[in-house]
Amino acid sequence: MDAVNLPRPAWMTEDLILLEEQARRLFAAEFAPQIEAWTEQGIMDRSAWNKLGEAGLLCAGIPEEYGGAGGTFAHEAVINREFALAGLDSIGAPLHSGIVAPYILKYGTEEQRKRWLPKLASGEMVGAIAMTEPGTGSDLQGVKTTARKSGNGYVLNGSKTFITNGQHANLIVVVAKTDPAAGAKGVSLMVVETDDAPGFRRGRKLKKLGMDWADTSELFFEDVKLPAEGLLGTEEGQGFIQLMTELPQERLIVATAALGMIERALRLTIDYVKERKAFGKAILDFQNTQFVLAECKTEATIAKVFHDHCV
Ligand SMILES: Cc1cc2nc3c(=O)[nH]c(=O)nc-3n(C[C@H](O)[C@H](O)[C@H](O)COP(=O)(O)OP(=O)(O)OC[C@H]3O[C@@H](n4cnc5c(N)ncnc54)[C@H](O)[C@@H]3O)c2cc1C
Repeated sequence: MDAVNLPRPAWMTEDLILLEEQARRLFAAEFAPQIEAWTEQGIMDRSAWNKLGEAGLLCAGIPEEYGGAGGTFAHEAVINREFALAGLDSIGAPLHSGIVAPYILKYGTEEQRKRWLPKLASGEMVGAIAMTEPGTGSDLQGVKTTARKSGNGYVLNGSKTFITNGQHANLIVVVAKTDPAAGAKGVSLMVVETDDAPGFRRGRKLKKLGMDWADTSELFFEDVKLPAEGLLGTEEGQGFIQLMTELPQERLIVATAALGMIERALRLTIDYVKERKAFGKAILDFQNTQFVLAECKTEATIAKVFHDHCV
C-alpha cells in the first residue's frame, strides 16, 4: 500500500496505470535485487540499460517513429517514480529519457533524430548532458568549453564534472561556446558520439554522500573533432535558450524522483516501527513515534498534492 493515501491524479489514465504495474514488477524482480551488488561495484551493470530498452522503459515519451514508446512526459514521470519507489534512486535513466532524448527530439534535425533516438530508446546508446564544469555550475553562461569551427566541422576542448551517466554514456550533449566573445548568445549544444571520438576521455567516477552506484563523473575533451552535424540543430548560439527552456522539465524530473524517495522512506519507516519492539511494545505505540510520523506524512502529502494535482 502507498504510504501517502491520495486519490490518483486525473492525468493517470488506464495505460499509465498499466505502465506503472509493468515497471513496478520489473524493477522488483530484476533491478532491486541488484542494488547491493551495484553499490559494491560502484556502478550498475551496463546490461541493465539494454534490459530497460527491451522492456520499452527508455524514451517512453519519444514518438514511435523514432523508436520511443509514443507516450508523453506523464509516461516518463510514472517510470521515474517507480525507480524511486523501488530504491533505484541512483539510476540515470530519467535523465537519459526525460532530458537528453527530448533535446534531440526538439532541437535536432530530422537526420539527427533518426540517427540517435532509436539507439537511446533501445539502450544501445546511453545519453548524458554535460553542462557543469570545474569552475561553472549554476551560472551556465560562464562555461569555458569551446567548440571552434574547423573546416566543415568543429574542434571541442574543455572539461566537465558531475556528469550523470558519465562512465556509461556514449552520446553526450555538451554545452560549449561556439563564440566565446558573445556571452550567452555564444553557447551551443554539441553532440559527441564517444565510441569514435579521439581526444575524449572519462575521468574519475565521483564519490558522493549517497547515490553510490550513480556514475557521476568527470569528462575531458581534448581537440575532439566533430562533424558539422555535431552541432545540435543547424544554428549556432541557441544553446542557452534551449537550456533555459528545458531545465524546468529537469527540475520536475528531480521533484518526481524526490517524492518517490520520500514515499519509500515513509513506507519503510512505518513498516519498521510496527515490527520493532522496545520496552514490551511496538515502537509505533509510543506517542512520540506517532507525532513524528504524522508530521512526516503531512509534509509528504502536501508535496504530493503539489506534484500530482496542481497541473
Ligand atoms: C548527483 C549529481 C548529478 C549531477 N548531474 C549532472 C549532469 O548530468 N550534468 C551536469 O551538467 N551537471 C550535473 N550535476 C551538477 C549540477 O548541475 C551542479 O551541481 C549545479 O548546477 C550547481 O552547480 P555547483 O555545484 O557548481 O554550485 P554553484 O553554482 O557553485 O553554487 C554554489 C552555491 O551557491 C548558490 N547559488 C548559486 N547561484 C546563486 C544565485 N544566483 N543566487 C543565490 N544562490 C546561488 C547555490 O544554490 C549553491 O548553494 C550533478 C550534480 C550532482 C550532485
